[in-house]
Amino acid sequence: MPFETINLTPIYIALGVGALLVVLALWKKALTIPATISAFVILVLSALFTSYTGLTVFSVSFVGIAIVGQVKKEKRKDREKDLYEHQGARGLVQVLCNAMPALIYGAVYFATGIHSFLIASAVTVCAGVADSAASDLGILSDGKVISLLTFKKVERGMSGGVSLIGTISALTTSVVVSAIVFAVGEVGIKGLWVIALMGFVGTLIDSLLGAGIQRAYRCSKCQKLTEKRLHCGAPTTLVKGLRFVDNNIINVVSLIIAGAISLVF
Ligand SMILES: [Zn+2]
Repeated sequence: MPFETINLTPIYIALGVGALLVVLALWKKALTIPATISAFVILVLSALFTSYTGLTVFSVSFVGIAIVGQVKKEKRKDREKDLYEHQGARGLVQVLCNAMPALIYGAVYFATGIHSFLIASAVTVCAGVADSAASDLGILSDGKVISLLTFKKVERGMSGGVSLIGTISALTTSVVVSAIVFAVGEVGIKGLWVIALMGFVGTLIDSLLGAGIQRAYRCSKCQKLTEKRLHCGAPTTLVKGLRFVDNNIINVVSLIIAGAISLVF
């Protein structure tokens, strides 16, 4: 069992790398202060639960998301401001919803030593970062965006919509993240494939759930679809999905499902 033979080295590295990432996050304004503190704790816990695999996959994802966030920052900001309640720095809830599934599967691995849970933990991180890259780059796309549920054209940036750029970003991210996890040496060649495949499938599950049950509103003044409750200074009306289901809930549920499917392999 991993908990009987705790390796302290990855934990010490996590403390060091975490401190550097805290500086990066605050400097680049990638995370709010509470989100930065929780990301630090998550990194250390993942190093405890899943050793070098967790440490590496979280560090790489974090840097990757920060770099992607710098691409055409102004254009993204401009396109997001009409659509989402929160833009710019990621908040505490967003960080927790993306990292909790990995910590849960990681904790099971820590307690039981069952290797599939280590893979499932890496799958959820991979799917989370792939989804983030797909959203952040997809919104910059000027190409067609379709709903994965109806295959009809939808407005860019709305949850459940998939674009070509977003899909390619998700696929590339999944392959890169799984290759890095493989290079760490704690998962085998089968793990490499499962993480790459399920990382990408996780983003599809996210899009399907997003199209199916995530709430969306319409502005009564400009008629645009939005995730905001207030638009053009007036309250918007719910036109799709369940009122209590926001993007964070979709993220956490789709990551748990992707991890659970990977356990079957
Ligand atoms: Zn409006």
